[in-house]
Amino acid sequence: MSVDQLKENPAVKWSWSVRTPSGEEFGVTNVDYVSAMSSWSQLRDETADDVLKGKMSFLENSFGVIGSYSDGYRIQTSAQCPRTRGNEIHWCPRRGEGGPGPNIAKDGDRWDSFPNGQRVCSYCGSLHPDDMLALMSDHGLAAIEPTTKGYKWYIARPFAAVNASLGPIKYYRMHDTPELLEKLKELVEALPKTSGE
Ligand SMILES: [Zn+2]
Repeated sequence: MSVDQLKENPAVKWSWSVRTPSGEEFGVTNVDYVSAMSSWSQLRDETADDVLKGKMSFLENSFGVIGSYSDGYRIQTSAQCPRTRGNEIHWCPRRGEGGPGPNIAKDGDRWDSFPNGQRVCSYCGSLHPDDMLALMSDHGLAAIEPTTKGYKWYIARPFAAVNASLGPIKYYRMHDTPELLEKLKELVEALPKTSGE
């Protein structure tokens, strides 16, 4: 999902905030793109602070996914896609790795869904294995970032969200299912063989 598509998605909520070296604060939280951009543009156009104007103009092309902390200015912009709390309960296999510990979620973990239907584990943030399988069925190994190694796959850029607040960006292999492993085997076996056996 590109930033341009996000602008048109009413489910996405936009925020920005500015704090100047003298402690002045501006911003809005969780509004639609048009309102966020209109209040942002108003400050950029009307401020008498040329340093601030310059910084805001520079950040504008990546509005929603970028911020800046420099020269005493703190400028943040963000976009967030709300998740729907899932009813399907599981126990995230990553709970065995330490951290908060297995006894914290008395009710188990959930698969929360983004507006596009993709589900993520409420504990580790992994894409649901069936949704990963769907990406692999549609796009083959191209669905996985080629630099990915080991237990954590990054979803390849064209199929991943811009960042984790907006949708799934990774898949943890601890969530593997037999169906996903079968698909992976099939895709790897279909790769052209390298010469020299
Ligand atoms: Zn998980």
